[in-house]
Amino acid sequence: MAKTSLKTNPKSKEKKLTPLMTQYWEIKSAHQDKVLLFRMGDFFEMFHEDARLAAPILEIALTQRNKKSEDDTPMCGVPHHSIAGPINKLLSEGHKVAICDQVEDPKEAKGIVKRAVTRILSPGMVYDPDTLDELSTNYLCSYDHQSVSFLETTTGEAFFYEVKSIEEARSFLNLLSPKEVVLKKNEVENEKEILKNFYFTAHDELFEVHQAPQTSCRLMSYACYMQGESINSLISGFEKRERSQKMNLPVTALRHLEIFENYRGERKGSLFEALRRTKTSVGSRLLREWLCFPLASEKEINQRLDEVEFWTKNFTLVQEVRSILSGMGDIERRLGKISTPQCHARDLMSLSLSLEAGFQIDQLISHWNHTTYKKSLQPAKELSLKIQKIISEETPAQMKNGGFIKRGFRTDLDELIDLSSDTQKALSQMEAQEKEKTGISSLKIRYNNVFGYYIEVTNTHKDKVPAHYIRKQTLANAERYVTEELGQLEAKVLSARTRRIEVEFEVFADLKEEILKTSPHLLLLAHVWSEVDVYTSLAWLALEEKYVRPTFSKDKSLNLVASRHPVVEQEMSADFIPNDIELSPSHCLLLTGPNMAGKSTLMRQVAVISIMAQIGSFVPAQTAQIPLFDKVFTRIGASDFLTEGLSTFMVEMTETAEMLKQAGEDSLVVLDEIGRGTSTYDGMSLAQSILEFLVGDSKSMTLFATHYHELTVLADKYSAIQNGHMSIRENKNQIEFLHTLSAGPANRSYGIQVAQLAGLPPKVINRAAKILSSLENQNEREESLQMSLLSFSAPSEEEEITDTSSVILDEEQQQLLQELKEMAVQEVTPLEALNKIAKWQQSLS
Ligand code: ATP
Repeated sequence: MAKTSLKTNPKSKEKKLTPLMTQYWEIKSAHQDKVLLFRMGDFFEMFHEDARLAAPILEIALTQRNKKSEDDTPMCGVPHHSIAGPINKLLSEGHKVAICDQVEDPKEAKGIVKRAVTRILSPGMVYDPDTLDELSTNYLCSYDHQSVSFLETTTGEAFFYEVKSIEEARSFLNLLSPKEVVLKKNEVENEKEILKNFYFTAHDELFEVHQAPQTSCRLMSYACYMQGESINSLISGFEKRERSQKMNLPVTALRHLEIFENYRGERKGSLFEALRRTKTSVGSRLLREWLCFPLASEKEINQRLDEVEFWTKNFTLVQEVRSILSGMGDIERRLGKISTPQCHARDLMSLSLSLEAGFQIDQLISHWNHTTYKKSLQPAKELSLKIQKIISEETPAQMKNGGFIKRGFRTDLDELIDLSSDTQKALSQMEAQEKEKTGISSLKIRYNNVFGYYIEVTNTHKDKVPAHYIRKQTLANAERYVTEELGQLEAKVLSARTRRIEVEFEVFADLKEEILKTSPHLLLLAHVWSEVDVYTSLAWLALEEKYVRPTFSKDKSLNLVASRHPVVEQEMSADFIPNDIELSPSHCLLLTGPNMAGKSTLMRQVAVISIMAQIGSFVPAQTAQIPLFDKVFTRIGASDFLTEGLSTFMVEMTETAEMLKQAGEDSLVVLDEIGRGTSTYDGMSLAQSILEFLVGDSKSMTLFATHYHELTVLADKYSAIQNGHMSIRENKNQIEFLHTLSAGPANRSYGIQVAQLAGLPPKVINRAAKILSSLENQNEREESLQMSLLSFSAPSEEEEITDTSSVILDEEQQQLLQELKEMAVQEVTPLEALNKIAKWQQSLS
């Protein structure tokens, strides 16, 4: 993370500063760690180091302040009406931003316009929630050895977990990916070293929050410091959340099972995307949370499943609810926006429209018995009506000229509106009267910003102008005048207009305050409606993809009939082959079979189906009976942690160590190709001892895929290990993947055939086949499992050309050999033999 390094003004001693730059430096010196956006007219400008840092990030030109006067101050700027995007870019690059605005009307300013910092923004405290990714959260986080707290200022979500150690607290960060971590000043450096991928901020002050730990108090204080006290009314308290009733899904499992992102870091191809049929962003974020923390209580899971089942049986109702939900905005983020100074009258209106959609949904969920929810409905209904009564449907994009408050709400405002439109009428009357009095038919009363109201008379009628007209301006073919009477009228119009705008903003501020006061009710409703969204979306998914309701086995066995992998199935154009998978409690399925046969898919399928079941979703199978898992562990494929200085093998073993420590009888363990990053002996020995530990000590339900065929004999020794393989069909040395799980070990690994399919040069394939054959012979001779690849020296040239004993031949070559073998040499003439040889040669070329 780069930071602005500017400490003092480098030029201050050399050149005399202009009053504007003096003001700039006064403000900048208080915000040296931030990029200062300095308002000048219609632009927010950045100077010196800030400009050099921001220009490439924002992809804008770096210029000089004033080329003519040789002021070489580097600067760049962005238009004031579109700063949300540039601010987000700076925040996402890990910079803080301070917005310095003009805090008085430039017209009224004596000397230089007063400026002050009006907002400070950081990665966790964004400028405009509307510019955020609606499917992701934007958490601030704070932790210590007792608790970990999270706060979303853009939605009002605030919660904490109690923890037993700082390590446990840190594990939440990997799970919930906060945008900014706020810690005590003396802890930041140390933690930054441990958690390198997070943005840290030091903040020592605490803000008392009722029944919340110190970490929550720190976040609250930081949010108030950054955004002002208005945030206080949005966040009414920190909810205590429990992890005990949740399945433990370590971040490695989230990554390996591609729950939120595929292995390339994209959302597409993840389980989240495959399941997401939600209609609102609040619903999508709730689904994300459910996937992060699947349930571990059968009762709670069944309550969710009951709800999903209800909706699957009421198709027309689901359609109706989903159509209403698609018109519902993001109530949480709307409230977040209303708590910021950027709030627009249109935000209030869209909040009301979203609430109205929610009230319609309320009519359709009569089977819900949510008492607190019901209590929140009335205040929300009253509020929504009030918003509609107050805010005009024709609210202009720019609020500064008023026009966003309806007539009929406040009599004094109505009077001011009348007065301003009446004076408009009076002006027209005056124009008519003046025309008549002077006899100048072309006389006009008009307005401009410089002179205000004036009377314009063309030069043709100059002589008729009365003496009390005071000349203000001479144009080429006309003169402009004012009169005392016009001056009085102008004062009346202008004061009515100014006062009207003032009153409109007063009404707006009061309404905003009332909304924020009602926000606990509104957030509760938003939450309930987001649940409706998730339930109906899961029902929709179940109907669309033909999923079934899972049941939980009492004896902790697993029985999936015709199960499928939800993500692979949706992504494939061809048909996905369903598989039956049966496993007794604490048993291990030891999977062998060639690469590409579908071992990984099958193992992940079991894990993913279990997670889906425990969030309360139907699952892709004909029938599904699943044990209730407390934890899911995975060790799949090679991940690249080279940037953290860890080798792939080290990562693999670290993750395995953690898993072996924690996995128990109620856990599901998925291990794919363990021990491959080291020598064959080492790897095989480790794989075997890990497997033995899992079935003998941990007693976890285990899915174990391996290329070490030697391990399959373990099934004879341990009754808890059952061999399985992914079938293939073999035809004349060609293989076809059937993607079907069958009992027993695979008879061969077919690695060379798969490599041939992948297009390795024939020379390499043939040589590999020869080595393999020799290894197998040697193995037989030694009657041992142990083998050494290293004992094979490179082939001699002659050997390479002549020895074809183990070469893989294609169909044509095989046919040729057959013909040669079967040729009755005595019965052919020499010419026939020559022709035959020529034909063979041709077919080989
Ligand atoms: P490797 O050992 O090389 O990792 P693997 O045996 O684990 O291979 P997978 O990666 O699971 O194989 O599957 C390979 C491809 O086969 C998948 O990408 C998918 O396209 C296809 N596949 C897997 N299972 C099925 C299935 N049941 N039905 C149809 N296609 C499948």
